[in-house]
Amino acid sequence: MDYFTYHDAELFAEEVPVRRIAREIGTPVYIYSLGTLRRHFRVFDQAFARIPHLICFSMKANSNLAVLRAFVNEGGGFDIVSRGELFRALRAGADPKKIVFSGVGKKREEIEHALASGILMFNVESEQELVVLNSIASQMDKRAPISLRINPDVDPQTHPYISTGMKKSKFGIDIKRSMDGYRNALALSHLEVVGVDCHIGSQLTSIPPFVDALSRVKIFVQALRNEGVRIRYLDLGGGLGIRYREEEPPHPEQYAEALIEELHGLDVTLILEPGRVIVGNAGILVTEVLYVKETEEKKFVVVDGGMNDLIRPALYGSYQAIRPVTEAGNGKIVADVVGPICESGDFFAKEREIARPKPGDLLAVMSAGAYGFTMASNYNSRTRPAEVLVDGKDFYVVRARERLEDLILGEVIPPILEYAKGSEV
Ligand SMILES: *Cc1c(COP(=O)(O)O)cnc(C)c1O
Repeated sequence: MDYFTYHDAELFAEEVPVRRIAREIGTPVYIYSLGTLRRHFRVFDQAFARIPHLICFSMKANSNLAVLRAFVNEGGGFDIVSRGELFRALRAGADPKKIVFSGVGKKREEIEHALASGILMFNVESEQELVVLNSIASQMDKRAPISLRINPDVDPQTHPYISTGMKKSKFGIDIKRSMDGYRNALALSHLEVVGVDCHIGSQLTSIPPFVDALSRVKIFVQALRNEGVRIRYLDLGGGLGIRYREEEPPHPEQYAEALIEELHGLDVTLILEPGRVIVGNAGILVTEVLYVKETEEKKFVVVDGGMNDLIRPALYGSYQAIRPVTEAGNGKIVADVVGPICESGDFFAKEREIARPKPGDLLAVMSAGAYGFTMASNYNSRTRPAEVLVDGKDFYVVRARERLEDLILGEVIPPILEYAKGSEV
């Protein structure tokens, strides 16, 4: 359920015509619907209302400050994976006591900052990280609250690049070794074991892998309690999928229902780290058609957005729906929708049946709110797009389009290169 709908053949974001935003702000542009963001957050949060829980939005899906602030206002916390994300979360007004820190490669300075900020919990992903964390905490005369990220060896049945909880994955600690891991953690004086964590993957479209993972993680909570360890948090990560095309992912309520049942009254605060399910369908990328190229074999619709703006199709071969911003009724064509970047992987769609466009038309790449802007780059020295937040009849630029000067920020020509060819004496 989102608020991108047609009225009289014009695509609207809530009550604002998408065309108007494109005209005023230019293209490519990301447009987020505040109503949709709030609605998705609330539906997810309320699905767990019956039990103690904390929703830590996974910031890597969408880390725009305005989007984060919207979730802060809803009482949400954050799942962060870097110092940069900590910086953003705090800037957005997040309560550090609602921040969990995940990631396999936390550096010392990142750990120091997170510890100094007083975050809720470190989701530790290796035994070496335990030792490093303990030594930093000891130097800072603090105790670091931790959980171990357990790799429960569950197949989430999703794209291999976003599958993270199987035996051969780089993430977490193998479930067979995790009891030893916990014993090691308990022996370290500046750590406080407070939870158990796992995250098995992204864009999951069925419930059983989640329940499977939870049942395995639950055993740990019980085993640890038997050893007298006070476990307060069970963090089940994120991963609930969305509909890009024909997927039929479970509704958050069904997901919550299944998890609450499996928890079976286990006395913990359940932490969830949803990303995509909250923001994915709350955003679109609007791009302008530059050329329509027809060869004997194929048709190409060349647009002004590229893989640097939205990399999912190029990276995972993902499907993103593409809709006309104005429905013109000129029939359909089958074409590749491609960007201006000098790579054959630069496409938004292949052999796709779309409304026949002409140069100057606007296209909306749907479901672009998650892993869209956050994965954007400056490849081909392209300035990254603007981000716009729509609220009812109003819209706000929440990130200005980058300027050319932003492209060379921090670059320096050293003095040895000072002289142009021919100018040396
Ligand atoms: C990416 C990630 C998430 C969010 O995944 P979604 O599929 O976007 O819900 C949550 N937790 C961790 C540890 C992650 O790496």
